[in-house]
Amino acid sequence: MLGELDVQGDTNPLDRRWFMKCALASGAALGVSGPPATGMPSGAGQQKQDDAQFAVEAKFYQKLQNRKIKCKLCPRECTVGDKERGYCGVRENRGGTYYTLVHSRVCAAHVDPVEKKPLFHYLPGSLAFSIATAGCNVNCKFCQNWDISQSRPEQIPADYTPPQRIAALAKQHSCPTIAYTYSEPVVFAEFLMDTADAGHAAGVRSIVVSNGYMQEEALREAYGKMDAVKIDLKAFTEQYYRDVVTGQLKPVLETLVTLKKMGKWTEIVYLVLPGMNDGDAELRGLAQWIKANLGEDVPLHFTQFHPEYLLKNLPITPVPTLERAKAIADAEGLHYVYIGNVPGHPAQNTYCPQCRKMLVERVGFTASQMLIRKNSCPFCRHPIPGVWST
Ligand code: SF4
Repeated sequence: MLGELDVQGDTNPLDRRWFMKCALASGAALGVSGPPATGMPSGAGQQKQDDAQFAVEAKFYQKLQNRKIKCKLCPRECTVGDKERGYCGVRENRGGTYYTLVHSRVCAAHVDPVEKKPLFHYLPGSLAFSIATAGCNVNCKFCQNWDISQSRPEQIPADYTPPQRIAALAKQHSCPTIAYTYSEPVVFAEFLMDTADAGHAAGVRSIVVSNGYMQEEALREAYGKMDAVKIDLKAFTEQYYRDVVTGQLKPVLETLVTLKKMGKWTEIVYLVLPGMNDGDAELRGLAQWIKANLGEDVPLHFTQFHPEYLLKNLPITPVPTLERAKAIADAEGLHYVYIGNVPGHPAQNTYCPQCRKMLVERVGFTASQMLIRKNSCPFCRHPIPGVWST
């Protein structure tokens, strides 16, 4: 079955049409969707008819007077009146009770290499059964998956795929992990939690790819069930977060500190937009903050931007810019600084910070060589942080 999926193809992973094609194709191939002839299910009419099966009471909210509620899932703290939805568009107040409308409402499913998340220090060379629902709690102007992240659930095709089914599909396709990804898992927290429980019961772990823009209680409960976390730290200034992300930096930094306190394996991605978040001072401040607050061993991925959505006017990030960012972070003492979305670049490999020998070689999204043994460098025995085997 896996042969039907081009999980290590050379297509640009950031191309939206490719993404949707894969999402649809894999949905059919994985049995997540309807008949292969039609791919994913039919769409809005069908969705409306089946709405009830996706609506589950939300976990993180507070009831107010006059049938209003205050959502406590993310820092927006939307106050939502009866029959209205919060900013993310996937949570609705029905008579004073708040509901998620995307429980088990899978709009994309795909088998990906874990390196594509990217997680480089977590089960290298393994596959992740990757799912998404509609919705997001921010609106990044550069979003690669805007067609699902900025949609309401009823606007895009989806399938009813409950947690136990996802766990079974992950096992069926030899995926040791389920990944919550593509859109923003914060907004489908209840579904993520139930799926993580189902996965763990079946011996499948969970990893999340998130903007980290959430409240601490929800973070501890929902991401407490995760086995590894990747956080997109989109810039190191509040101005960028306000103008480009439509969010705030401070809660994301707080999330990273809380994840460290929780002992979660965490990697950070910083998408470098030319002229927008690539100044020397900003990058130095970022690296210094990571070292001081999270430690020098947290992997940091500087990834290449490809023009998309509302920022098609910007160029692709030049490779020398990414190399400059890495050089700054290296100089500040971070041990594992990677360059992402540049296939074949040597900074995609893992090197021992002590003896500098190459320990993991990556080609595209494949870990082609993995020399780490017993969580250590086989040459000098220096411990290499991460989860290297099941
Ligand atoms: S999760 Fe959605 S409804 Fe809740 S506060 Fe955030 S944007 Fe608002």
